[in-house]
Amino acid sequence: MKIYVCRRKLAQWRGTLSLLFVIFIVYMTNFATLYIVPTPIGNLDDISARAIEVLKQVNWIAAEDTRHSSRLLQHFSISTRTLSLHDHNEDKRTAMLVQRLKDGESVALISDAGTPLISDPGFVFVRRCREEGIPVIALPGPCAAITALSASGLPTDRFIFEGFLPVKTQAKDNQLAELKARTCTSVFYEAPRRILATVKDIARVLGDRHIVVAKELSKTFETYVSGTPGDVIDYLEADAAHQKGEFVVMVSPAQVNLSEISAEAMSLLTTLCDHMPLKKAAAVVAEHYDLKKNALYQAGLDAKGAKDAD
Ligand code: SAM
Repeated sequence: MKIYVCRRKLAQWRGTLSLLFVIFIVYMTNFATLYIVPTPIGNLDDISARAIEVLKQVNWIAAEDTRHSSRLLQHFSISTRTLSLHDHNEDKRTAMLVQRLKDGESVALISDAGTPLISDPGFVFVRRCREEGIPVIALPGPCAAITALSASGLPTDRFIFEGFLPVKTQAKDNQLAELKARTCTSVFYEAPRRILATVKDIARVLGDRHIVVAKELSKTFETYVSGTPGDVIDYLEADAAHQKGEFVVMVSPAQVNLSEISAEAMSLLTTLCDHMPLKKAAAVVAEHYDLKKNALYQAGLDAKGAKDAD
């Protein structure tokens, strides 16, 4: 008898839980989508047809600076309502926009130029949407870092995007010092008022490391300058106009002196790589032969590349 009552209660509970689950799913499927929409970094023709369509279709456009974006929106006859979302109001706006998305109103996030969230606001908003189960779709599009890197002639197989360097000298020096042994390309954004000082700092901390500075991408005076930091300083100081505009600074990987690595060490490295990740193998061999970990890591990558090519 007791068993019978329990079973009936269980069946009732199961019914209630199923109903709650269905209500939850219906509620969730009513959520509208947040679109991350990249906009041009200079040349208006770089906006995609899909970006224009999404900006026309959504209920709201959240823009870093609504006045700045209004020129772009007018140019493409986009009349969607806008509201601001920037570093100083992102928490407040996030709460409001998340509620609108939950109520079924779609939102597109744009920044002043390029891909939102890449050295631009939006992280707090997107993270919250993810936490709340709101669909987030990012459209591919313009980004100064990727545009510059792809045409720089520097290695692109591995790179680190650093955003803007710190302004304070000590913090900036510390961050640049990390590049001394870094075996991949580093990419930075820099403001015009600091570009000369930053290249001088690179010269002071990293010496004659090969660098590339990309300026005014996709605009009339697009320029790539490459060479030692000294070469780039000469270019920047040659004409005041050379320091105006927008800049991406790229630093080449540290040169690895492979001749320091004996055949014996190299052989141990390749053997260990069959049993553990390259990073760990490089650390073990570095300790055993008193060599630089980064040099061994780079040698391991080169050996792997050569093996893969065979
Ligand atoms: N979200 C943007 C993106 O996807 O590239 C970046 C925004 S960040 C606030 C602005 C910085 O990006 C500029 O200071 C400059 O370093 C870089 N940048 C933007 N447009 C550029 C361009 N046309 N040429 C070179 N650098 C550019």
